[in-house]
Amino acid sequence: MTAKNIHLFNTGRHVDLEQHKEPAFSAPLCSVPIRECVHVPLYDPLGGNMYPVPRKGDRCARFSPLARTKTPSNEIGPSWIMSPVSGYVEDITAMEHPVLGRVFCSVIRPDSSVPPLPTVQHALSSMTVDGVLRTIHQAGIIDEFDGEALISKILRAKEQKIREVAAIALDDSPYISSALKTVSEFGADVTDGITVILKALDGGSAKLAIFDCDEIHMRQDADKFGFVTPVRMSGGFPLISKFKRQYYPDGGFLPIGVQALRAAANALLRGIPQTNGIVTVSGDCIKHPCNAMIVNGTPLEDVLRFVGVSRVPNYVIFGDTMNGITITDMQTPVPVGTRAITVMHSLRQPEPCTRCGKCVTVCPMGLPVYLAMRYYERGDVETACSFGAERCTGCGACSAVCPSGIEISDIMRRLKRHKRSQKKKQ
Ligand code: SF4
Ligand code: SF4
Repeated sequence: MTAKNIHLFNTGRHVDLEQHKEPAFSAPLCSVPIRECVHVPLYDPLGGNMYPVPRKGDRCARFSPLARTKTPSNEIGPSWIMSPVSGYVEDITAMEHPVLGRVFCSVIRPDSSVPPLPTVQHALSSMTVDGVLRTIHQAGIIDEFDGEALISKILRAKEQKIREVAAIALDDSPYISSALKTVSEFGADVTDGITVILKALDGGSAKLAIFDCDEIHMRQDADKFGFVTPVRMSGGFPLISKFKRQYYPDGGFLPIGVQALRAAANALLRGIPQTNGIVTVSGDCIKHPCNAMIVNGTPLEDVLRFVGVSRVPNYVIFGDTMNGITITDMQTPVPVGTRAITVMHSLRQPEPCTRCGKCVTVCPMGLPVYLAMRYYERGDVETACSFGAERCTGCGACSAVCPSGIEISDIMRRLKRHKRSQKKKQ
């Protein structure tokens, strides 16, 4: 397998992409079982050195500290890493992690006879702002939206006097649906998380940005988020820039991933630190695409065994085909903050349409396919739909002859679906 960072289309150009998220999104949320051990990275997102608390051979309870920074990395105290499972520390080893860099890992063998640590719940109304900040810090929350420590982002926003929070569920990459799944399964937790962040900021208001595509149909009640205004966004990748332009043209807002918000609610209201996350496991090699709850430090191999691999992958990516990091060692632990694991046989990067017209000559329906392509590439989906997409039979002849390697029939199918959904709305 090839190791490389994947940053397709990172030129600022917006690209309308065929989405492949439906199979994972519509599958029930599941949990990846731990086969033998978890390898929890003792990683301080604030850059401090972590010192193990339980040593090799010690027992550790679920949610108890595995490591902490020696000296407080800022005025609100040390950073902590909490154990995701109860068991025994089998080893503490150093590794070169493709995402985290060189890091020590606590290797924990789960043992159900070790009782979990009791959780301490808080009443948000009786907490001080400092108390909220300290709890968020201690919960070790990583924001999956940008991989940053949530506490750093909040402290920076406070310094800049920002009081606008944007909950981000913009799954605009083709295979990822973990944010949408979080919103659909844990909408109330996301709203609670926003309440927590607003308390930390000492007041303000919030929006919830949700990726909107024809492929995924969220439950109707997903629109009910109490005091938070949901905003549905559709369009080309990367969508966050469109969202900023439209709602915060002057900046001055704090974007936070919906999983980090859920983790903030869990930490404050239920006393549960962030020790797992929802990860979309998908790609053209995955037998059963799904969104799975994955415990911090679960080896990649455990995940792939659980979901099943249908053919030999050439690329296993932490992230998506748009901007992920390929993994070559199947024992690599999946860290919290991972949004997706994408397992691909091929990464096709099509050339632009050359207007050769071959697709038109083979189309059994006589569709002016390249005209649809021309407008589609410009991002004008409405006009692209007006060239008879609804009559496309999906035969695939156009894709087969296209010298640029464009999956035209996929695009036509997408246009057809779009047209159908537009009709329904009328
Ligand atoms: S897939 Fe659709 S557009 Fe392409 S050749 Fe077949 S009918 Fe024509
Ligand atoms: S065959 Fe491909 S390159 Fe040629 S006009 Fe059609 S879409 Fe464009």
